[in-house]
Amino acid sequence: MALAQFLFRGPYFLKSLTATSLGRMLKTPICSWNNYLRKVSVHGGKSISTKIVLGIETSCDDTGAAVVDETGSILGEALHSQTDVHLKTGGIIPPVAQQLHQENIARIVQHAVSASGVSMEDISAVATTVMPGLALSLGIGLKYSLELVKKHRKPFIPIHHMEAHALTVRLTNLVTFPFLVLLLSGGHCILAVAQGVSDFLLLGQTKDIAPGDMLDKVARSLSLHNHPECSGMTGGRAIETLAQQGNILRYKFTIPMQRYRDCTFSFAGLRSEITRKISKEEKEEGLQEGQHLSCIPDLAAASLYTMTVHIAERTHRAILFCKEKGIIPPGKETLVVSGGVASNQYVRRSLQLLADATNFTLVCPPPRLCTDNGVMIAWNGIEKLSAGLDIFYNVEHFRAPLGTDISEQVKEAFIKVPALNLAV
Ligand code: AMP
Ligand code: ZN
Repeated sequence: MALAQFLFRGPYFLKSLTATSLGRMLKTPICSWNNYLRKVSVHGGKSISTKIVLGIETSCDDTGAAVVDETGSILGEALHSQTDVHLKTGGIIPPVAQQLHQENIARIVQHAVSASGVSMEDISAVATTVMPGLALSLGIGLKYSLELVKKHRKPFIPIHHMEAHALTVRLTNLVTFPFLVLLLSGGHCILAVAQGVSDFLLLGQTKDIAPGDMLDKVARSLSLHNHPECSGMTGGRAIETLAQQGNILRYKFTIPMQRYRDCTFSFAGLRSEITRKISKEEKEEGLQEGQHLSCIPDLAAASLYTMTVHIAERTHRAILFCKEKGIIPPGKETLVVSGGVASNQYVRRSLQLLADATNFTLVCPPPRLCTDNGVMIAWNGIEKLSAGLDIFYNVEHFRAPLGTDISEQVKEAFIKVPALNLAV
């Protein structure tokens, strides 16, 4: 599958950024940005000893901003979550998300900058998520960022959102390239080898929906948004909370794609199987409007368990593939897990068992940095600034590259994964 295809997620997602698409989105003549950006230098003509980046994130439903320096110190940060609004409407409605970003972006960025104690003068560059994500949401962050770089004469660093998730760990832990990375989020599920900044080998990804999306939809089918124990929680967090009281063995769901010896994921079939079971249980219990099923904890536990076994099995194959092909040298066996679903403790414990069994070291950023935030974008900006990569003074051709797709090689290797008991 082509990289462009891998980045594309439905009609509202931004596939790639060109001068025309950007101009259309911003309703601003692109040449005025280009003329300005060509003139600025990395430090805006002033000598600054420490690299400091302002990061801005608006790819989905979180408006985030942060100021981070090259030592990894988070000087200031701010985040506005739209979760409450989207829980009420039963999912993210892109124009609503766009409106909320528009209402909050200036306040969030100003908050992060003033909390940092540095002025815009001292900031080396502005880094912003440009893809992948909801086009309407991305447009708000991008428009705001480009106005900011123009006003303060700063260079612009476009960020690939999934690269930022993958590299967050290098801010919190001492992790060097190469490492295996598993990204589990609301829009993506990716196994890749991070070989360097913006240099990834893609081993596999989901062929339909992402695990966070699956959990959100299951949570919605169970009406968890108005469950007394799950107030204000995302679907994934609500499932995690209730699964703790459940019995994973009461329901048995089919583990996806067991016949396919590759690293491709699939969660749509599992989601349908679970929703069918929920409907059946609702009929059997004779559920009235506003009531919750009595078996919710068991359904949540079985859903989480089946999803986790599928994720662990694909990750196990990726580990064996990397060992067989010598992609990760001996002594450097590290598995990094990030993205919103990586904040799930059950998923982490299961992947820890896998890491122990394969002599890999599991490293995850703290849960608050696994979900979307401005810190990861600012840090990715620091990484790019340090590597001298993708620092743009001209927005006509700016891009946010990620890597090379080698999922066909994984498929050809046809690796059988030994059984592993993950019933933790
Ligand atoms: P991201 O797309 O990386 O911002 O992650 C958001 C996704 O993570 C949403 O689908 C959430 O339901 C999911 N999520 C957040 N916290 C948890 C958790 N503790 N367990 C499972 N999924 C979670
Ligand atoms: Zn994300």
